[in-house]
Amino acid sequence: MSDSGSEDARDLDLVGEEGDFADWEEEHEEARPTRCLFSSETHPSPDAALRHAAQAFGFDLRALYRQHDMDFYAAMQCLNFARACAQEHASDPAAAAAAAVAGIARGAHRDEKYLSPALEDDPVLFDWEDFVGVGMDADALEDDQAAEQAAKRAQEGGGSEDDASVTARLRAEVETLRLRVLEMSQRLGETPEDEMDDAPANVGALALGQRASSGDAPEKGGANEKPKAPLRPRGATEPKPAGKSASQAVDENYFGSYSYFDIHRVMLDDVARTAAYRVALEQNPSCVKGKRVLDIGCGTGILSMFAARGGAKKVVGVDGAADIAAVARANAEHNGFRDVITVVQGKVEELLKKADVGGDESGDDVNNENVLRKHSFDVLVSEWMGYALLFESMFDTVIEARDFLLKPGGAILPDVATLHVAGFGRNATSLPFWDDVYGFEMPCVQKSLSEDAVKTAIVAPVKGAHVVTDSAEIKRLDLASVTAKELDFTAREVVLAARTDGIRGDEVDASVTAGAGEGAMGLTQRSVVVDVDAGGPVTVHGIVLWFDTLFSERFSAETPGVLSTSPHERQTHWAQTMLHFPEPISLCVPNGSKTANNETSGALGASSNPCASIKVRVGMAKCAEEERVRGLDVSLEYVCVGAGGEEGERKARMYRV
Ligand code: SAH
Repeated sequence: MSDSGSEDARDLDLVGEEGDFADWEEEHEEARPTRCLFSSETHPSPDAALRHAAQAFGFDLRALYRQHDMDFYAAMQCLNFARACAQEHASDPAAAAAAAVAGIARGAHRDEKYLSPALEDDPVLFDWEDFVGVGMDADALEDDQAAEQAAKRAQEGGGSEDDASVTARLRAEVETLRLRVLEMSQRLGETPEDEMDDAPANVGALALGQRASSGDAPEKGGANEKPKAPLRPRGATEPKPAGKSASQAVDENYFGSYSYFDIHRVMLDDVARTAAYRVALEQNPSCVKGKRVLDIGCGTGILSMFAARGGAKKVVGVDGAADIAAVARANAEHNGFRDVITVVQGKVEELLKKADVGGDESGDDVNNENVLRKHSFDVLVSEWMGYALLFESMFDTVIEARDFLLKPGGAILPDVATLHVAGFGRNATSLPFWDDVYGFEMPCVQKSLSEDAVKTAIVAPVKGAHVVTDSAEIKRLDLASVTAKELDFTAREVVLAARTDGIRGDEVDASVTAGAGEGAMGLTQRSVVVDVDAGGPVTVHGIVLWFDTLFSERFSAETPGVLSTSPHERQTHWAQTMLHFPEPISLCVPNGSKTANNETSGALGASSNPCASIKVRVGMAKCAEEERVRGLDVSLEYVCVGAGGEEGERKARMYRV
């Protein structure tokens, strides 16, 4: 949508000697002075303001629009909400942007009041559609993004590369990254059972990583950019070095994997994750201000610094990865928190054995040995979550620290975790890619992939549009009181039926590619068009598992929040965990037909006899094998249920995470 009032401004600013440039501008963006979404700066056009908000503050309207499936009104509300956040945090644009992103993630912008413009005649409200690319198809959007990046690179490189070669280079870079993701997904999903013990359970940073070294400034970017769907290499198990017990070896590999900058960059760059913690620590003064905060697994020190910025009196960060603990210490000092933040290097469990159990409860002694005093902290913060929530077993560590170091009744951030399931369809798998490879079908690859997919849980991004059932919460953990024993559980049984929100989830998706399923580049044009019978059953290929962590009002009274890893929300580096069924299940849609002639035969859930719902029960247990002490075993029981409540054969499978 273009703004009729923009002509004057364009005349004033751009027509003149640079006639060509003015033409270019006219085509590409409307010149109209626009106030920055988050600061008092003025940008030459709404487009420039929106680009700046994305680049400088991580508030990317185009990404938000797509992630949250926004309509016109939601986008307008989103912009007015951003401006309201800017007013609330007038002195801190970055905090305003973080609050806006976090608020939008939990739907705070969908209040009627945000339909009214926050600024009179706000140009972004007239011109955001061009920026977002409303009306463009996915390919056009990608081309548009590529062109935008190409233009930027050309500008940075003094215009030495022409557009075509910049685009070609970018495509090659994207391809390299995609192959890395594919390789990682393959290794995650396809490691044969008998090789499991020797293979890294999850790969990523070890292959990609730039290792941290004490005192060095963390490297940014460079050759080791993160892939589009990064995977967190938590709990990697490598061959055990001679003379070490298996658990010592696992620890060494585990902390070693956290000594690489890449993994920290992936985590920091995960805006949904990091912004949720930022809001929790900086916008809940009743919890943090003037308090003693313990940051378990401090990594680069980011959460410790958020806590310090939130007004904590004292913050103690602990990390078992020596190199990264040194980085956290250097970061705290460099950013002016030398007196507030103390970083202790060591494995929490070992430190607690030596910790001082008596003495001064204030714990203000900055000697590393003595800062960890019993029940001396008001707040414990930690980002401990692994794939499927509990992979990596880091919450056991947090429980030990909580029970020893936190004052009785102290706050824990986050304070609640929930687990959820839904059924995913074929588009969420890597199968559609092989339907049409430059006009050829490759069913032998599909067969092989399907066989391998049932052997282990697969961590990969699942789009909300590829979920074919409703969702259900299966487990809720109160993190302030849960015990280590309770982390092995069988969750409650839930019933999943086809979606009732008008989306089937199995419509043809031209952007489906193998692996990441992002359709970033490559074979996005499909010549095979699979007709979806709108009233016919959907096919459920497996169960997608995810978690949310809550910063509830209990401890986050001023600004509660949710960090969600749902397929229906912005993707995070945890992606989702997929448990494939050995045989897909056919599931009736509401008011749909059962089969073409409504005659049924065969087992309940077969395509000739679709079921009405699927009962699902998930269990989780820490792996008992010494070599996989940080591993997680997930069990899945499921049974198809007919329209009259009759049940088919109950099936059960185990998956390793
Ligand atoms: N808080 C940081 C890093 C989170 S990653 C951030 O939010 O970006 C988890 C960190 O916990 C890693 O740096 C890892 O080395 C550390 N960690 C995991 N288990 C630990 C343990 N038992 N003792 C000490 N540190 C641990």
